[in-house]
Amino acid sequence: MSILRKHLFDLPEGMIYLDGNSLGPLPRAVPARLARAVTGEWGAHLIQGWNLDGWMAQPGRVGDRVGRLIGAPPGSVVMGDTLSIKVYQALSAALSMRPDRRVVVSDSGNFPSDLYIADGLIRHLGQGHVLRVVAPDAVGDAIGPDVAAVLLTQVDYRTGRMHDMAAITKAAHAAGAVMIWDLAHSAGAVPVDLAACGAEFAAGCSYKYLNGGPGAPAFIYVRPDLADRIDPALAGWLGHAAPFAFDLDYRPAPGVDRMRVGTPPVLQMTALDAALDVWDGVDMADLRAASVALSERFIAEVAAHCPDLMLASPRDARERGSQVSFHFAHGYAAMQALIAQGVIGDFRAPDIMRFGFTPLYIDQADVVRAAGILGRIITDRLWDRPEFQARKAVT
Ligand SMILES: *Cc1c(COP(=O)(O)O)cnc(C)c1O
Repeated sequence: MSILRKHLFDLPEGMIYLDGNSLGPLPRAVPARLARAVTGEWGAHLIQGWNLDGWMAQPGRVGDRVGRLIGAPPGSVVMGDTLSIKVYQALSAALSMRPDRRVVVSDSGNFPSDLYIADGLIRHLGQGHVLRVVAPDAVGDAIGPDVAAVLLTQVDYRTGRMHDMAAITKAAHAAGAVMIWDLAHSAGAVPVDLAACGAEFAAGCSYKYLNGGPGAPAFIYVRPDLADRIDPALAGWLGHAAPFAFDLDYRPAPGVDRMRVGTPPVLQMTALDAALDVWDGVDMADLRAASVALSERFIAEVAAHCPDLMLASPRDARERGSQVSFHFAHGYAAMQALIAQGVIGDFRAPDIMRFGFTPLYIDQADVVRAAGILGRIITDRLWDRPEFQARKAVT
């Protein structure tokens, strides 16, 4: 059964959008829903909106909708803040669960913000923790009895290489370490079964494959049996057991709600809530099958049209997320030339051209056309023009 639902997205005419792994497009239901929230809720109800329109319960309600897509049971996911902050919260909670251990394991395929956050947290704790960053295929060997926490992003943002969540979580637990998964490039991209894998924490953003729009809040998952016990480092009032008691002392809320910090981004989360409607009835196994078919077709077409491009992603679809990347020395300029022709991907330093595959609004014809256009750009050296060389702030 096809899961293509292009009609639910407001994509510019003629554009082939292969960057939904970075910022998802606008679902058609969002503008009206957002307008209703602005005028009918904020405008009409003002402060009463917190009660009348359910704003206070929104982070948990929307969290449950995201939870369905990542195999998390109801009540185990909450929305808020940015992914960087959620990584901080998860890691600090993990370290306090293993007070006699001092090592955090991560890998060189992780997104830099996760590594910066881990490094900054460790420095500020001042307890002698070390961040052990190893090559992605050396993670298993790096997990020993000194490891407090393993912090990994399942799908590499540059190459799309995908870790085996179940196997690594098992290895972490066998060594007595706490497992934290960053699902930034997994949620809405590949099937994830958090409940089955047993990881203690997971977090991710909602503006990539989940189409929540620029600045959409992150999600965090805490394994239900731990949620009442963990110690939240960012002890804000909305993570308090009774925010409106205005106690002078902090008492954490029951469950995952203790990972809330301050006032939720109501309008942005309303956009996300409406955007999540496109997932109604989507089976993640069907999505995965379509994603693999699109990626395989693109790899084959690019190999045929652009022999100069070298595949940077694993060739085996089982080891890839929902993106395909290529090395090309003139990758930045070539991507600019491609964007000028309406095919949108992106560039990641030093030389990676990156393409995301999102079967809800991309089909085989799009993929074939995109590869054909890319082929002409490479063969005719259309990238070799001054206007395509200047680096923009966001690549
Ligand atoms: C996109 C991404 C982030 C971004 O974090 P923000 O705080 O939302 O800016 C963090 N980690 C990974 C792995 C990502 O892919």
